Amino acid sequence: MSLVNKFFVIILPLIPKIIIGFFSKKYIAGPTLDHAIERIKDLNKLGIMATIDILGEEIDQKADALQVVQEYKDVLAAIKKHQLDSNISVKPTHLGLKIDKMFCLENMRAIIKEAEKHQNFVRIDMEDHTCTSDTLEMYLSLKKEFENVGVVIQSYLRRTMDDIRVLVNHGANLRLCKGIYLEPKSLAYKDSAIVNLNFNYALEKLLSKGCYVGIATHDEKLLWFALSLIDKLKLKKEVYEFQMLLGVTEDLRDLLVKDGHRMRIYVPFGEHWYAYSMRRLKENPNVAVSIFKNIFSSS
Ligand SMILES: Cc1cc2nc3c(=O)[nH]c(=O)nc-3n(C[C@H](O)[C@H](O)[C@H](O)COP(=O)(O)OP(=O)(O)OC[C@H]3O[C@@H](n4cnc5c(N)ncnc54)[C@H](O)[C@@H]3O)c2cc1C
Repeated sequence: MSLVNKFFVIILPLIPKIIIGFFSKKYIAGPTLDHAIERIKDLNKLGIMATIDILGEEIDQKADALQVVQEYKDVLAAIKKHQLDSNISVKPTHLGLKIDKMFCLENMRAIIKEAEKHQNFVRIDMEDHTCTSDTLEMYLSLKKEFENVGVVIQSYLRRTMDDIRVLVNHGANLRLCKGIYLEPKSLAYKDSAIVNLNFNYALEKLLSKGCYVGIATHDEKLLWFALSLIDKLKLKKEVYEFQMLLGVTEDLRDLLVKDGHRMRIYVPFGEHWYAYSMRRLKENPNVAVSIFKNIFSSS
């Protein structure tokens, strides 16, 4: 990361929320479910699938987590009503993991059961390292009961290949990504070349063992490796999908779709957009730099 970019990441929290909100519009459907529905209708018209995320995390009141369960049930009903090609993504700490693991598990079960009723699918997002073991344990427990659930693994974590050895034995349905949280070096690779090598190593292991993989990256080097692997293993289009974030590398997205690959876009919506936006902006300081330039050019 350049010095200029490092500087902008440091000053990012000082930028007024209203300005962050303006620039986050690209990555977030809007504050309401209706906004998400409209964005997904447009994606579906392009032959692109979606996964809906209600923004929010780190809930510390049971009543709030129960409210989130109800909101996800409403999302599932809306997907059905509008005949959208979309599933949902849920965050364990949004469903009360930091309050009580069993409470969180019950909340997940309620959502997955509702999704099952609608023949839909639930992806459990992966949060920071304090959640990894609990999330994987909950997933494996839910997997015994339900077919329509999957989880996420992050190639920056040193433990990932060990986790994969367990997950492949359970025929896991996985989203593979690099990982977005700031983790200590003792737990996560800091060298981006190693994170990429580990992504490729993990992908090869998962696909060759027959796991369904959501290949979640915008990195063209990783996309190239994934495509070469799909070709080498002669995989059918139904056994994997590519996944990208709303508003990111739409050119690459369209190229993959044009070549007939399945593509799913992560569509976040909701009032709690600030934490999500800050993570995205820190990850891509060029956007932060453009915020700063715009502040000056408009003053
Ligand atoms: C569908 C999906 C779900 C995800 N779920 C999780 C999850 O559950 N847990 C988790 O820890 N992480 C998750 N992530 C985030 C992921 O871990 C990475 O942080 C993120 O995808 C960026 O990594 P990359 O592989 O695209 O490579 P990068 O090297 O970061 O990006 C490659 C290129 O993509 C473009 N790009 C990437 N990000 C942005 C951005 N924000 N704005 C503009 N351009 C950008 C840039 O051109 C960049 O050069 C998810 C990502 C996707 C696509």
